[in-house]
Amino acid sequence: MIRYIFIFITCFCTLLKGQDSRVTEFAQSITEQELMELLYVYASDYFEGRRTGSKGQKIAVDFLRDHYMNLNIQAAEGTNNYFQEMTLKVDGKMVSTENVAAIIKGSEFPNEYIVLTSHLDHIGIEGGQINNGADDDGSGTVTMLEIAEAVKIGLENGYKPKRSIVFLHVTGEEEGLLGSAYYSENPLYPLEQTIVNLNIDMIGRNDSLHDNDEDYLYLIGSDILSQDLHDISISINKKYSNLDLDFRYNDPLLKVYERGRHYANRYYYRSDHYNFAKNDIPVIFYFSGTHEDYHLPTDTVEKINYPLLTKRARFIFHTLWDLANREERIRLNSDKKYLNIDKNGR
Ligand SMILES: [Zn+2]
Repeated sequence: MIRYIFIFITCFCTLLKGQDSRVTEFAQSITEQELMELLYVYASDYFEGRRTGSKGQKIAVDFLRDHYMNLNIQAAEGTNNYFQEMTLKVDGKMVSTENVAAIIKGSEFPNEYIVLTSHLDHIGIEGGQINNGADDDGSGTVTMLEIAEAVKIGLENGYKPKRSIVFLHVTGEEEGLLGSAYYSENPLYPLEQTIVNLNIDMIGRNDSLHDNDEDYLYLIGSDILSQDLHDISISINKKYSNLDLDFRYNDPLLKVYERGRHYANRYYYRSDHYNFAKNDIPVIFYFSGTHEDYHLPTDTVEKINYPLLTKRARFIFHTLWDLANREERIRLNSDKKYLNIDKNGR
């Protein structure tokens, strides 16, 4: 009898708390410990800096595929067992390489797709030194792996997302956004049915503009194609995360200091989301800024701020969850900002 009462109370409380608290519970499956464990493998010397087409990059894609297989998240249609294979030119040589793509199908709007991206490659070995790319883009990669697990836990608890979620790890980013360009020319799911791309590239550190105890995150491009996307980001953050969302790089004329020079910030064009944005798909580029170890062998795992990476990862999960489950698909703006300024990619 006691057991029955207990079950009744549990069910009743669950109903009262509703979906919000369950979502928070799923988000909490994203932990510092797991992000760290994944990153200590993914950005280890064994992966040899993951240069596109190299042995280390092949180890990386096998690692990613294994993760989705272990979670029992299916391969995206049109892939060869999770791999979207292609041939790319790297240093004047043609190499075979692959994106890794998995999907969780939506329940109500299965033909509307949210594509989550991060780049799986980095710059490999230079001058005998391995560039482990812990932040670039180990941080985005392991964040996606943890988000995939959180969505899967939701699913197992009866919360199937309404829209389909595609987990797309792209290759060839460091060679000129090539893997995402290939995807945009050979999409596994129709681009016109792709409602948003959330791209995560370098979110594990603090830049020189922020103290180490500041919980901030740059969101780039969020209002350029869809004001809805921008507004949702702000309200989700207020509700769940309380990060200092920093939109300064939405001004493409703002200068940044990098490798000894000031440049006009062109971040909107500098990571894989751009290959979606140029096809009129709303995007957010999640980013925590560059640092002194950018593209150097010193971009290593012990320099990652794991508590902050966890907060950022949970925020992105909550945003994804909202976009996947809201009744209405986010709307495109009638006017497009900034797109006329510079279309030359990197
Ligand atoms: Zn990167």
